[in-house]
Amino acid sequence: MTAPLPTPPLAGGRGGADALRPLLDTVLTALRTGAADRGGPLPAGGPDATAARVRAALGDVFPAHGTGGHEALATLVHTLAAGAADPADPLCAAHLHCPPLAVAAAADLAVSALNPSLDSWDQAPAASVVEELLTTALAAELYPTPRPDALLTTGGTEANQLALLLARERHGPRLTVVHGANAHHSIPRAAWLLGLPPAHALPTPTGTLDPATLDTALTTTPGPVLVTATAGTTDAGLIDPLPALADVCDHHGAELHVDAAYGGTLALSPRHRPRLTGLERARSITLDLHKLGWQPVAAGLLAVPDTRLLAPLAHQADYLNATDDTEAGLPDLLGRSLRTTRRPDAVKIATTLRALGRDGLAHLIDRTCATAEYFADLLDAHPGFELHARPTLTTVLFRPTPTDDDRLATLRRTLLQDGTAVLGRATADGRLWLKATLLNPHTTAGDLDTLIAHLEGRTHR
Ligand SMILES: *Cc1c(COP(=O)(O)O)cnc(C)c1O
Repeated sequence: MTAPLPTPPLAGGRGGADALRPLLDTVLTALRTGAADRGGPLPAGGPDATAARVRAALGDVFPAHGTGGHEALATLVHTLAAGAADPADPLCAAHLHCPPLAVAAAADLAVSALNPSLDSWDQAPAASVVEELLTTALAAELYPTPRPDALLTTGGTEANQLALLLARERHGPRLTVVHGANAHHSIPRAAWLLGLPPAHALPTPTGTLDPATLDTALTTTPGPVLVTATAGTTDAGLIDPLPALADVCDHHGAELHVDAAYGGTLALSPRHRPRLTGLERARSITLDLHKLGWQPVAAGLLAVPDTRLLAPLAHQADYLNATDDTEAGLPDLLGRSLRTTRRPDAVKIATTLRALGRDGLAHLIDRTCATAEYFADLLDAHPGFELHARPTLTTVLFRPTPTDDDRLATLRRTLLQDGTAVLGRATADGRLWLKATLLNPHTTAGDLDTLIAHLEGRTHR
């Protein structure tokens, strides 16, 4: 007779912490050994070599007989870390892909252990209050109005979708969305998803949406219109001229949504906040704390100046928010998202805000912006590089000189293939540029020298 199969321990309950502790030890060891094996910002060898290593390490992903928790964690976590593009490495700076703070990741572990789900109070009694406190507090950072509110989302994409949905519910299905060519691709995609007329993209040759261009477009666009502006473009980190765009919208009776997925956290830095002047004139604001907010994915937000603007999302399902339950005082949470089962991302964010405080968070923002300024100084002073423009946020576009677009694209891929640096690419002024999206507050001058040395080594071969 074979031995009965064990029933593995749970993460929660009275015994949960004790069951987790030794497993966490295995996880942390594997994170360390995996990062050491990788040795740089991403695995060397490119997609084929990485895939081969993962396949070899995992073998059968669903074996007939289990290997046990420790072996499975050691294998999977080591393989994951060894094959990661790790944003905590200063030379991993391609995307708005931030290195999460240790305190936020630790809070997220607790969330995984307890697994509260924010679709009803009886699945998340305390977590739902944390979310309410956090969303109210963050909304108040963005709007000086009496009843601001915010919803947590999976990111900027979902926040933009909700913004367009709420505008459609206010104005009907003939709503035209007008945005700059510099807008995030999720804006026109949301218009498509919601069955709106195709979104109208305005050219942005300077990188930001010109108020005069918008004014001309709105003169000939039949209403109702929702204009979306961007505070922190994905490609260059530029901020559209929000007060002037808000004036144009007012003049034409159009509504304004601001996608501040990247730049919105500047509002939390006294030094940089003035650059977002006019933000509060938007009907809705998208913000992503998994970008310039050092949270593990997901940590998106859609803020509105008045909680009543969220009323169209109200929804009822007897098993979650029966009318008599709501009347008896059980909080009704279904209107806080289009999702049903929902992870309390508020917990890691609230933990971070408490741990760092206002001054601590502002310090991170200021420091990261200063790193980008410094990198721009280095490139500007270097005869082997051309700087596209001074950074507005933490994105620096540059290219080695001389070069052409094909050689530049190849250079980027070579760095990826070798595992030496992860840089992005962006087109501006009709040319291709390397993009460094600096989100790591620990990046030093020495790290940036190393990056430049890698580029020089590769460029001048
Ligand atoms: C990143 C980004 C988004 C999309 O956010 P996700 O969190 O990736 O869904 C939207 N808008 C802008 C301006 C962004 O930079």
